[in-house]
Amino acid sequence: MLIDTHTHIYGPEFDEDRVEVILRAKEAGVNHLILPAVNEESVSRMRQMKSLYPDYCSMAIGLHPEDVRTNYLQQLQFVKDELQTGDYIAVGEIGIDLYWDKTFQQEQEEAFLLQVQWAIEQDLPLIIHTRDSLHRTLQLLEPYKHKNLKGVFHCFGGNVEDAEAIFRMGDFKLGIGGVLTFKNSSLEQTLKNVPVDKIILETDSPYLAPVPKRGKRNEPALLIHLLPHLMDIYQCDEETLCKTLKQNTINLFGEN
Ligand SMILES: [Zn+2]
Repeated sequence: MLIDTHTHIYGPEFDEDRVEVILRAKEAGVNHLILPAVNEESVSRMRQMKSLYPDYCSMAIGLHPEDVRTNYLQQLQFVKDELQTGDYIAVGEIGIDLYWDKTFQQEQEEAFLLQVQWAIEQDLPLIIHTRDSLHRTLQLLEPYKHKNLKGVFHCFGGNVEDAEAIFRMGDFKLGIGGVLTFKNSSLEQTLKNVPVDKIILETDSPYLAPVPKRGKRNEPALLIHLLPHLMDIYQCDEETLCKTLKQNTINLFGEN
């Protein structure tokens, strides 16, 4: 009864063996996937997968910060039109990414805030991506703090202060993935000070595979490698943990 709240298995990395990847996910007990869009091209792939596995996948729509380029206004119009279809359970993934390139920072911020406003209008949760930009992202969200903001900071890797700053901004969860299993990560220490009802699971596949598959292509079935770490952090058995994580996910994204 696990839910992978963030996977890009609609992407070309899985074109050769997507059917097997989904079978392995189901065998591992992963019984639902949330697919976040990154740009216009990703949406046709996502929709195709949704039509093949209608009950197994839910979709989110958004323009990823790394895809904010010169044509971003046209891309945003596409996101806005897609949102009108009512086919989406969340707005994402959206955010600010200053790791590779700051050229479009201003456009990234404009795109982020527009999409946040659309989410508020439709009462949808946000799937937020930040990289070298958590504090800037929180600054941008500050004016919306009292507008029932909700969502997930996906692929969270910060410290306790970061987590607390996120929670002050609204009903936010932390998306926990493969980084938790990395030897050099301090995430395990951080989570000891984060209540279990504030976290949800994700792979971000094909990226960030957990140990023992670190460096390989990630896939939803590999979520199970997070469980021993979380059982240890929260001192609970697997069944209790999985129930709680499922409930956290439903509280945020609804029952789909
Ligand atoms: Zn992603």
